[in-house]
Amino acid sequence: MINDKHHKINILIPATYRLLIVTIISSLIFITLFTHISTPFELHAFQPISIFLTNSFLLIYLRFDPKKRVNQVIKIYGYILLIVSVLNTLYYTTRAWQGEMSFIENFPPISGMTILTMTLIMLMIPEKLNKLIILTWTLNALPVLLLLATHPEELQTPRGYDLLFLFGPASLLVLLIIPYQRSLKSHMDKIHFDLKNSREEADRDFLTDVFNRRGLNSWLNELEDNSQISIMLIDIDHFKSINDKFGHDIGDHVLIEFASRLRTVYHGTHALARWGGEEFIVVIVNSTRDKIQIVSEMFRTALSQLPYKEVGKITASIGVSQVNSIDGFSTMVKEADTALYIAKNHGRDQVVMYTGSLTKDLLSDLAPEKN
Ligand code: GH3
Ligand code: MG
Ligand code: MG
Repeated sequence: MINDKHHKINILIPATYRLLIVTIISSLIFITLFTHISTPFELHAFQPISIFLTNSFLLIYLRFDPKKRVNQVIKIYGYILLIVSVLNTLYYTTRAWQGEMSFIENFPPISGMTILTMTLIMLMIPEKLNKLIILTWTLNALPVLLLLATHPEELQTPRGYDLLFLFGPASLLVLLIIPYQRSLKSHMDKIHFDLKNSREEADRDFLTDVFNRRGLNSWLNELEDNSQISIMLIDIDHFKSINDKFGHDIGDHVLIEFASRLRTVYHGTHALARWGGEEFIVVIVNSTRDKIQIVSEMFRTALSQLPYKEVGKITASIGVSQVNSIDGFSTMVKEADTALYIAKNHGRDQVVMYTGSLTKDLLSDLAPEKN
């Protein structure tokens, strides 16, 4: 769920940068244009420059903490749009109502830009802020439409009809289509979410809910290349006899309880997976041999000290590999397996750390009795 939100924010950040940058560039173009060519619209004297400044400020503000600020920046952008466009519309419509000026001759040609920007940010802001857009649209469109409807001499001109269509059918169309676009987007989000969930499920062991081998593999792939790891193989002692004595279902309960105890022991960076049957694997990242020795003893104690529900006391044997870089994963599994083999053959309920020479000696001492 958290990742899903991140995913949304990740697409939103570049989109917001683009929105701001394009707004800044176009206001710069207008500033240059209006310093060279005079314009009959008073508004052009200060609007491009204030848009340039506010958006540059927003861009810098966003730059410092994009993840936290992106929603806020879009919201502010929306409010600026609301204030600027509505003030502008009200100023020209009221003066036209009072007969002080002709509306269509004086209303600056920015309504197309306003509607376009409204459409864009409507796709970007959280749905609950739709109200803001509807308000912006209403406060812009209603005064204009009302004025045109009551002043036929203003309406019956090319610009009059243009504004009628722009604030009437054209923007209505946009407002009606966007919710559809949005629902399409939320549908896509849901598909994405479901896909992620089922991927996660595919990475988990169904019975114990720890990683399965596949999950462990993708976890390993995400580790940094220079990480040092160490591996523990943990195998329940005489598990077959638990199944034989109490039945397979109770055996399953034991596996679940065993896995939940495994989860509580170590809190540094590590992964826990069911390696197969009643054997689990723990991968510990960037630790030292001495610490791992202590941690593996902690695992052994946590697993065997208290009795299990329904079956009482059980123990586990643990084989620990050397510390090495992740490329050596399969070698480390073999080392841990050899160490586990020695632990089993030396009476179980113990930790054996793999060391090349020691292991050879121990292996040659052993009778080949593994059961
Ligand atoms: P050791 O101390 O040498 O490890 O002896 P063990 O009996 O634990 O080992 P063995 O490999 O002989 O037996 C493992 C048993 O684990 C056999 C298998 O039926 C049981 N097992 C494997 N997966 C499951 C499972 O998902 N549920 C249950 N209930 N039993 C399982
Ligand atoms: Mg076993
Ligand atoms: Mg086993």
